Amino acid sequence: MINIAQLVKKQRDFFQTERTKDLSFRINALETLRQMIKESEGDIISALKDDLNKSEFDAYSTEIGIVLEEIRFTLKNVEKWARPRRVKTPLTHAGSRSYIYPEPYGVVLIISPWNYPFQLAIAPLIGAIAAGNCAILKPSELTPNTSKLLARLVKDYFQEEHIAVVEGGVETSQMLLSEKFDYIFFTGSVPVGKIVMEAASKHLTPVTLELGGKSPCIVHEDANLKLAAKRIAWGKFMNGGQTCIAPDYLYVHRSKSADFLNQLKVTIKELYGEAPLENKNLTKIVSERHFKRLEAFMKDGSVFTGGGSSLEQLKIEPTVLTGITWDDPIMEDEIFGPILPVLEYDDLAEVIKEIRQRPKPLALYLFSENRTLHDRVLGSVSFGGGCINDTVYHITSPYLPFGGVGSSGTGAYHGKGSFDTFSHEKSVLKQTTMFDIPIRYPNFKNGLKYI
Ligand code: NAD
Repeated sequence: MINIAQLVKKQRDFFQTERTKDLSFRINALETLRQMIKESEGDIISALKDDLNKSEFDAYSTEIGIVLEEIRFTLKNVEKWARPRRVKTPLTHAGSRSYIYPEPYGVVLIISPWNYPFQLAIAPLIGAIAAGNCAILKPSELTPNTSKLLARLVKDYFQEEHIAVVEGGVETSQMLLSEKFDYIFFTGSVPVGKIVMEAASKHLTPVTLELGGKSPCIVHEDANLKLAAKRIAWGKFMNGGQTCIAPDYLYVHRSKSADFLNQLKVTIKELYGEAPLENKNLTKIVSERHFKRLEAFMKDGSVFTGGGSSLEQLKIEPTVLTGITWDDPIMEDEIFGPILPVLEYDDLAEVIKEIRQRPKPLALYLFSENRTLHDRVLGSVSFGGGCINDTVYHITSPYLPFGGVGSSGTGAYHGKGSFDTFSHEKSVLKQTTMFDIPIRYPNFKNGLKYI
């Protein structure tokens, strides 16, 4: 059994040596991380297959490729991001110059979930390393093959005083949380996010919370229905619907509902075949508990397409439910599975009102050709991030910081956002000793003669 307190101390001692602050140390570590991933691609793909039945295509495009691109982007920019930067100085501070020095926090804890178990562990780690921190990673116990692989790879490629993986479930996570860290980066559910924040508050440790929630997707009457169906089916049903920013539910304008739904049915067949349960690339549901939770939603409204499931394989067909209202159980919490409930609307104002009176979503998607309408929704609804005329795709841009707002999370990362997340910005005023301005001192009218 790993001694967590000792490991944290070891990392803290190593951080004190200041080696991780050296830019070339960070660049080397990022290159090592890249090498680790490239040399282990086959192992990563098979761990993801064993844990979630992810296809090779999905494993590469949504887990491996995404972090390799993040490493490439970070390596290209880290020198620039790490430099102290000069900022403006007001006239009242004449004679002085102002700077911001990014500095690493120290020893950070990264707790990750099971749905993209490789990507969501490594992506924050890239930022932690680039900013010059030591890090302990706690992967999810629900994807044990990926967790075990991460532990082995990190041990093989890194010194544990710099980067270490601690495997385990709730108990291990809580043991880690009782230690004092300098930063905690958590990805997971809203209830556990609250536990993490409470634990962090005991040590006044700053946190990033990447949480979830019900992300709406609106298809307006002027939308390109065919494209909307394709992009919604892609974002909703990838990874068995187990994506934090998947469209959780659909609001479709009543006048176009029938056309859109028929289009959606055609698209689902194109993507997953006539018999999705027989499609060997269909991602499975992570556990029997989640499978049963999801299966129970099939009783809500009526099944428009899909509806089939296999407990033996832990697979659920891409399913669309119609005739849904906010009173149905499926509308209570984040679905996190391949079931898409559809509500209809006549007036966009109703939709905006409904969304605004609920917790702020992690993502929102709007399909419409009308820019005024885009601005109306963007201006009146608060959400973490999202897309106009697409779903999920915003997460792949390193120029768009990714995160939630309110109960869908706090803080953001990706690209420079990751470097900033794991850095404290130290503000420094460099003052002149050539002269002194007396007015800030008490009793300045009598003049100060001591300079
Ligand atoms: P989870 O909150 O159950 O678990 C996340 C991590 O926390 C795991 O490592 C787990 O071991 C640990 N954990 C669980 N219970 C704990 C407790 N009581 N105390 C301390 N640690 C605990 O989440 P999950 O089921 O792994 O992931 C699904 C959730 O994550 C969904 O809500 C989804 O929306 C969210 N998510 C968010 C993002 C994002 O980027 N915002 C990405 C992926 C998933």
